[in-house]
Amino acid sequence: MSTHFSSYNARTGEVLGTLTASTAADIDAAANAAAAAFPLWQASSGAQRATLLRALAAGLETGREALVALADQETALGPVRLNGELDRTAFQLRRFADIAERGVPFDYLDDPAVAGAPPAGHPAMQRWSVPLGPVAMYAASNFPFAFSVLGGDTAAALAAGCPVVIKGHPGHPQLTRQTWALIQQVLTAQNLPAGLVGLVQGASNDVGVQLVRHPAIAAAAFTGSTRGGAALAAEAAARPRPIPFFGELGSINPVIALPAELKAKGAELATTLAGSITLGCGQFCTNPGVIVLLDAGLADAQAVNDAFVQQLGQALAGQNPHAMLTHGMRKNFDAGVAHWGEAGATFVVHEVSASGQPPRPVLAQVSAEAFMTKLALREEVFGPSSLVVRAASVAQALQLLQAVGGSLTVTVWGAQAESADVQALVRGAMAIAGRVLFAGVPTGVAVTAAQQHGGPWPSSTRPESTSVGDAALVRFLRPVSLQDAPAWLLARQGRPL
Ligand code: NAP
Repeated sequence: MSTHFSSYNARTGEVLGTLTASTAADIDAAANAAAAAFPLWQASSGAQRATLLRALAAGLETGREALVALADQETALGPVRLNGELDRTAFQLRRFADIAERGVPFDYLDDPAVAGAPPAGHPAMQRWSVPLGPVAMYAASNFPFAFSVLGGDTAAALAAGCPVVIKGHPGHPQLTRQTWALIQQVLTAQNLPAGLVGLVQGASNDVGVQLVRHPAIAAAAFTGSTRGGAALAAEAAARPRPIPFFGELGSINPVIALPAELKAKGAELATTLAGSITLGCGQFCTNPGVIVLLDAGLADAQAVNDAFVQQLGQALAGQNPHAMLTHGMRKNFDAGVAHWGEAGATFVVHEVSASGQPPRPVLAQVSAEAFMTKLALREEVFGPSSLVVRAASVAQALQLLQAVGGSLTVTVWGAQAESADVQALVRGAMAIAGRVLFAGVPTGVAVTAAQQHGGPWPSSTRPESTSVGDAALVRFLRPVSLQDAPAWLLARQGRPL
């Protein structure tokens, strides 16, 4: 493993600093320290967990100025976006504090004994939830606060009673270290073990691989690329004792825009969509990567759709995305766009940016047949780009969704009036997506009770789980049934020993 790695200015490529990478011994120590902290933390009360989470939120806010400035240097996401993301991260921490305080991690189901012969008759049963144990948390590059060191996975795992070992993202290594230092101050102030939240960092995939292989790690939470998630999920499954791997991965987020809707307000929707495609330089897992237009259903559907493509192209050409997170992401973006061209897509907007400048937005168009037969057209191109796919019928639009296979979101514009076609499209959308939208754009994921941020492969490794919203907590709990339990145990009302 490399012994050192660098932090870079995302705008200029200048080296901001050199950091020491975690060694095999460091990874071992972090995982063992988390395991040592587990008995204390799994037995902690909801109030204790809430106190920690609220202090972490307050610590983020106190350190805001320096943290945002550093994040801006390492990611180029800009202070407005980063301040908003820090607010969201503090909100998530406080929301999980409230959830822990309400006793949600200790919810149990009482199933009193029923006299008589089985199967109707049964002993007294109580179903509890217990924390899984130390969680390896893999941070993503594109949310340096909300899906990084103190992001939703860390908040949910701590609320559930699990220690965390963070695998920092190499895209913002100094911010990672400063955020972790803040956590350590809070742990010390609350007299909690330093190992409750550990950190490992490095310049190569080896650090993350060693962490997921460590016998003390009981689960992993990952936010990142489908390729990285697949590699680590395979490692988690190949362990002598396999562990759950909750991977939130990439997605192409189809937007199905029905022609009547575009006829009514195409110009407005084009502007909204162009803003969503280029938001954060397109570096969102919920970026609308595919726009499905239906050349049917209205006599002039084709003309309406052609006009919308022109409007969207114009709206996109007027956008000025900022620099991408890393040099590697920029290279991948350019390569992904080139693959679209090689696979037969026609470019509607494709300006080449001057050397050293941020990428320009890209809009391309393909037939549904091409989209369904060529994998390169269905892969996420991470950046300010989108692909228009023209479907000749509802049946073809449904086949197209099937070809996508799994997505964090599908948006359906124009589903207000019920019809057999609309029903079929909504059913098709629900079959492949974690979240189906009927208005607005998919970028922006509310932190709330009914949120589902996940979906079938390739958008996640666990379609039954969510990484955003209140239900993110249950990923880190496992059920245990207590049969004919003694009164002293039942009196604990679900609180682990
Ligand atoms: P990434 O390159 O996959 O990195 C994520 C983490 O995995 C990092 O800690 C990375 O660190 C590690 N990693 C990557 N490849 C690995 C491998 N082969 N073996 C072991 N560890 C590996 O992803 P990213 O660049 O941060 O983010 C961009 C992607 O994340 C996009 O595809 C985006 O759609 C997706 N994303 C998804 C969500 C969601 O909620 N579903 C949210 C945000 C982003 P090392 O490189 O140091 O190993």
